[in-house]
Amino acid sequence: MKNTPINLNATHDPQLRSWVDSANVAGCDFPIQNLPFAAFRPQGSQEAARCGVGIGDQILDIGACLQLFTGDARKAADACTEPHLNALMALGNQAASALRAALSRLLCAGNEEHRAVLTAALIPMSRAELLLPVKIAGYTDFFASVHHATNAGRLFRPDAPLLPNYKYVPVAYNGRANSIRVSGDRVQRPWGQLKAADQAAPVFAPAKRLDYEVELGMYIGTPSKDGEPVDVANAWNHIFGFSLLNDWSARDVQSWEYQPLGPFLAKNFATSVSPWVVTAEALAPFRVAVAARAEGDPAPLPHLFNAADQVGGALNIRIDATLRTARMREANAPAHALSRSNTETLYWSFAQMVTHHSSNGTALDTGDLMGSGTVSGAGQDALGSLLEITRGGAEGMQLAATGERRSFLEDGDEVTFHGRCERDGFVPIGFGVCTGTLLPAVSRETSTP
Ligand code: MN
Repeated sequence: MKNTPINLNATHDPQLRSWVDSANVAGCDFPIQNLPFAAFRPQGSQEAARCGVGIGDQILDIGACLQLFTGDARKAADACTEPHLNALMALGNQAASALRAALSRLLCAGNEEHRAVLTAALIPMSRAELLLPVKIAGYTDFFASVHHATNAGRLFRPDAPLLPNYKYVPVAYNGRANSIRVSGDRVQRPWGQLKAADQAAPVFAPAKRLDYEVELGMYIGTPSKDGEPVDVANAWNHIFGFSLLNDWSARDVQSWEYQPLGPFLAKNFATSVSPWVVTAEALAPFRVAVAARAEGDPAPLPHLFNAADQVGGALNIRIDATLRTARMREANAPAHALSRSNTETLYWSFAQMVTHHSSNGTALDTGDLMGSGTVSGAGQDALGSLLEITRGGAEGMQLAATGERRSFLEDGDEVTFHGRCERDGFVPIGFGVCTGTLLPAVSRETSTP
């Protein structure tokens, strides 16, 4: 048995149904077992942003029914009147858990007691503007998929794709907090220094090799103290929840700038996250063993190793990526399936990422976002970037619906991720979508002839 249930409680009960009928429809991402958080305002209104909970195709405006909560749940509910989730996240997972338990009881089918008050606090998702859920404190992007690291490394070093540090260090770089935007927000082709292999000097021009990266984003709730590294065994106490994440990447900018200090402008022009934050608690039924290391691989160093983490520290989250070009949208053609990968294949667990990040004494802050790195699997249908699918652009991809070809993204291309968790005996939950449409580069004077 690979799955290890951790902290399952009444909110995960597969028998639960909601009196919000849309939450009980097969295939719904937001059944009563999920209860993810988002920041929103009614569409087209000037109303203040606030936080709500997803149930079926509705958002429960927590601030509009505060009187239904008491104790820790009330503290958490009060925090939901803020424009971002940070205040809720800073209270610690116990408060969010108390709110979740209360919401599960209130929204449960058969409980009619407060239905009128709750119904008045529901807003259809179709009539809400979903906002960036978290005011991002710091942004760090990892490189936790050994499949992605190997595939990307092979393009540059066919004989030795993995660098010697990979199996010891959860490799990461620091991105830029203000480049994080919510699904659907503007993503624009950046300008940058590009140097073709056969040219002596770079030119400054719009990036040509624009790519996406399928990732999972992890949000820190409870902060850690400066000088006090987080133990692997306690790391989940600091993890509030997860969103889908697209680390848009300009490969031609990246290949010229990245040595020796790592990615910089190639990746910090835009990073998209899905608006729904699925809590660590909601994901408890989908905790699985960390993928087995290949024979001959070193064990993690002791400070990164915890037996319980190895048994239940990975997450079984399937992420599908699709592409729709402008022509496909005009022709009303279905999206092209790019990949289906799963975070359970990652080499490093989320607890190991948290522990590694804090292992030098660096404090983790409420609202820190950590990306998993591109989630690729072993198969050819599980490659989480165009860099891998088209082998660095060498093998173009045919889009059956329109006959178009792609090596990298063209202006107008729309990339969408959908995340979903399934396990026998439990109600599936989903992340909703993370989508973005690539806009053309701004027109500007260049300094090159
Ligand atoms: Mn990345």
